[in-house]
Amino acid sequence: RVQELRANKRRPTKAERQGMFSGLVFCADCGSKLHFATCKSFDGSQDNYRCARYKSNTGDCTAHFIREEVLRKIVLNRIFAVTAMFYEDITAFMELIQKQRFDEAEKDMKRKRREVGQARKRIAELDRIFKRIYEDDINGTISHERFLKLSAEYEAEQKELTEKVKAEQQEVDTYEQNKSDFDSFAAIIRKYVGITELTPTIVNEFIKKIVVHAPEKIDGKRFQKVDIIFNFVGEIHLPTDPQTEQKKANKQEKTA
Ligand SMILES: [Zn+2]
Repeated sequence: RVQELRANKRRPTKAERQGMFSGLVFCADCGSKLHFATCKSFDGSQDNYRCARYKSNTGDCTAHFIREEVLRKIVLNRIFAVTAMFYEDITAFMELIQKQRFDEAEKDMKRKRREVGQARKRIAELDRIFKRIYEDDINGTISHERFLKLSAEYEAEQKELTEKVKAEQQEVDTYEQNKSDFDSFAAIIRKYVGITELTPTIVNEFIKKIVVHAPEKIDGKRFQKVDIIFNFVGEIHLPTDPQTEQKKANKQEKTA
């Protein structure tokens, strides 16, 4: 409620203006946050976000410049599109989200299972190597100093791998308990149906992350890809999205 009140009050002056998406916007190329910058204009129309590693062209990334007003429109339109599909055909929407999550989670799981498998194998291998250098040490085949150095190295590697196995196993487990996420997301959609403007509260309830790509010039026009990642359900590829169409076409081409 406090955040809503804050959002509805008069436009703050330059000094106190804060980005509506601060902390949520990330660079597609380096992964850094995009920092909010307010500008001289009184109404905030020039307020913008820039990659934290750009640093006025002295950093090691490009600006990925995007005005807040533009981002606001993109996010609002995205919420409208998702809400529209939700109300038009909730079953289809649910299937879409579940399929997307399932596909992604399955891909992720396969990769993780493979990594866990490899880490386990390496752990076993290290055990054997360790045994061998221990024997070499006893037989005097290698110097005791070298033995100490090697054993410390192998021990460190083994410790790291064991922690990796533990962490990934946990992730595989949490995949199982994500079933109520769709309901949580549906509750947010229902709560905000009919909104005409964004507030920081709405943004924080809907959005987990926004990934901004570097702008591209196509036929002299500036294009900039922006990925919206929602809370609970992630990125949603609607059937009406141009990218989804393209992906489909690519898939068909591949299978053909
Ligand atoms: Zn960057």
